[in-house]
Amino acid sequence: MTKQTVTFRNVLLQDAAVGHLRRSLARNRISQTYLFTGGPSIGKGRTALAFSAALQCLEVGAPTEDGLPDACGGCLSCRRIAAGSHPDVTTVTLQGNDIRVDQVRRLQELAVLQPNMGKWRIFIIDPADRLNEYSANSLLKILEEAPQRAVFMLLAENLERILPTVRSRSELVAFRTPSHDEARKALATITGLDADTVMRGYALAGGAFGIAGRLLTEGLPPREECAGLRAAHVRLVAEIIAAGDALHTRVEAAPSLEAALQELEAAHTTASIGLLTARRELVRGLIVSVSLPAAFPILFTRLFLEAVDGVKKDLKKAVESLIGKHKQAYTPGLLKEIEEQCGAAIGAWASRQPAAFLEGLMRWHEDLYHWGFMEDEKCLLNLDRKDDIMAVTAARGPACVRARLQLLHHSLELLRRFVQPALVLENVLTDIGGPIA
Ligand SMILES: [Zn+2]
Repeated sequence: MTKQTVTFRNVLLQDAAVGHLRRSLARNRISQTYLFTGGPSIGKGRTALAFSAALQCLEVGAPTEDGLPDACGGCLSCRRIAAGSHPDVTTVTLQGNDIRVDQVRRLQELAVLQPNMGKWRIFIIDPADRLNEYSANSLLKILEEAPQRAVFMLLAENLERILPTVRSRSELVAFRTPSHDEARKALATITGLDADTVMRGYALAGGAFGIAGRLLTEGLPPREECAGLRAAHVRLVAEIIAAGDALHTRVEAAPSLEAALQELEAAHTTASIGLLTARRELVRGLIVSVSLPAAFPILFTRLFLEAVDGVKKDLKKAVESLIGKHKQAYTPGLLKEIEEQCGAAIGAWASRQPAAFLEGLMRWHEDLYHWGFMEDEKCLLNLDRKDDIMAVTAARGPACVRARLQLLHHSLELLRRFVQPALVLENVLTDIGGPIA
């Protein structure tokens, strides 16, 4: 999984979605707009690249094992798509918290041009459920006027957040969420690693298939014994600061402002194994603790958010000094735009931290819920901590687990609406620290 490959053969566990697209290619019936929907990190992006490659491949029509079209993966076009440098494949992604109208307007200019080296002009919008009101309307206008040779692939987790007028123009391609068991088996097949390592890597990635693949390829550290809640708390704060320091170094060393921006934008999807481990150990500590010290929610929240804030300030300073260094190479307008985009990326990294922590708590509660009903270990994400899950499920009744799942769901929604993270975190931790219901 190290090499970026852009063939359908490399998309796993999505036979229905992939089959649908390959049959469209075989019949040469290509829609203008596709809407790929499904959970995070399950292959939508990989499929969009594979579909783009198959549309543009210079060797397409070469025989495949099952007779359906696929990209060759090796021609100039395929290689450029893999490298992200194909002139006719444009990806638009988040700038901070949403996809902005100026990003979409830029597409308008590109969409009307003839393809440069390929047969199609392809636009991948990921995540399309984060278009805001203005950018979504701007996109709609482009779709209405786009020439025949343009293909749009919109990737979305939440179909509800797509404008109905955009949805109705799109061909829907649904991606399924594989079961934890299927995902682990597929990861074991691709990586060739033993079941125990795969189980840990998959749990560490919070069940995100693509991220698990990356962690397993990078190599997991040996399993450590848990050192208790207090130590886990200290470690998480230290790892956040370390992640910030590492990012700071990369930003400082960036050869251009664009390169620095890329580093900042990539940061929230490429958390280090250290940070993921620390976060998971703390979440685990919270789940298994019978009750928390009364001061814990406030203390934890303060130290956690102070660390995040510290990183934020530090990164802003790094960007400022970089701007000072490269100022001459840019027009004032462009400089301002890049500065804003860097600020948005830093903000997105910071708001990702409390959200990722709550998502971790949510995944454990989902395990408690599933174990309570089915007692089937295949359903567990945190299978390497099955003993914890069994013990906690026995101690806390299903009503308590269900109430907490609802609270976590609601709290994540509040974070998305920019309610102060301190309030949200304290509230969740106070609930978790309370006596067993
Ligand atoms: Zn090819």
